[in-house]
Amino acid sequence: MKCKRCRRAEAAVDLPSHHSAFCPDCFFVFFRRQVQEGIRKFRLLSPSDRVLVCVSGGKDSLVLWDVLMDLGYETEGLYIDLGIEGYSERSKEKVLSYAAARGKDPIVVELAKEGVPIPEAARCARMEECSVCGTVKRYFFNRVAAEGKFTVVATGHNLDDEAARLFGNLLHWHRDHLSRQHPFLPDAGEGLVRKVKPLWRVSEVETASYGFLKGIDYVTDECPMSEDATSLVYKEALSLIEEKMPGTRIVFYQGFLDPGNPLRTPPEPAARDSAAATADGEEGEEPGGPRACASCGAPTYAGICSFCRLKERVRKRREERGGRVAG
Ligand code: SF4
Ligand SMILES: [Zn+2]
Ligand SMILES: [Zn+2]
Repeated sequence: MKCKRCRRAEAAVDLPSHHSAFCPDCFFVFFRRQVQEGIRKFRLLSPSDRVLVCVSGGKDSLVLWDVLMDLGYETEGLYIDLGIEGYSERSKEKVLSYAAARGKDPIVVELAKEGVPIPEAARCARMEECSVCGTVKRYFFNRVAAEGKFTVVATGHNLDDEAARLFGNLLHWHRDHLSRQHPFLPDAGEGLVRKVKPLWRVSEVETASYGFLKGIDYVTDECPMSEDATSLVYKEALSLIEEKMPGTRIVFYQGFLDPGNPLRTPPEPAARDSAAATADGEEGEEPGGPRACASCGAPTYAGICSFCRLKERVRKRREERGGRVAG
């Protein structure tokens, strides 16, 4: 089959949802335009932004970094080493070798050195690994962004991720989650930086094709802590529908994002603080806007931020264990 854009080269990527098929060069043009359109539609980024791109070593985040650099944005990568044996080493290596090939030196945060490697922190706090991981990542997104004077944090969530999340939120009528689900999360002031998802218009297949054709080497195995089987079920269900009715996924998600959709009325400014607080995983929330954590100075809606509370629990458990061993 010939490329439907240039009509000369052989098509390498077939995209039924767009009634199209592209050769590699034309696909790159298509992909970048889709990302640009996603950015433009909700003003996710401006040319003056300093963008902190969160890279995990997986395809989506590396593709995001690649395309933002190609679009001319000022970017730096942030890699958070979760301290997961084997997996973290492999993913870090992919990030570092990709960055080196593009002349970049990513910011690396090692959770083992910070006292909260995910598997141990989850055991000590008696929490799900992914929940601990979310708290810790949000903390470092904000902290690194503030320290490096970044104006925005970008993550690699794609259309499949967002549509599956929407599907799950609708199935369970999580109204509060629905009102907050958006590719643009405004900054809440006091160092709670703006967060954006520039890949929201491109599917997982498109992102994987872009990564493959660009020769981006990424980690292919899933995080071993991932037990979120439900989101995979939602993805599978949507893939089945997409296969029978190409284009349904983008219609579903884009329709949800329509400003006129009452399901996702943005929170009022007064309510936004508390929505952002919940999004930032705060417990023991106190009224008013964010203030400085009494322990680390990071913005928080409680007296001590959730990261410091977590760190303290890990430290105590270590002490208890040490005491038991010594005794
Ligand atoms: S699967 Fe869970 S622990 Fe692993 S990276 Fe994702 S959120 Fe973190
Ligand atoms: Zn072409
Ligand atoms: Zn703190």
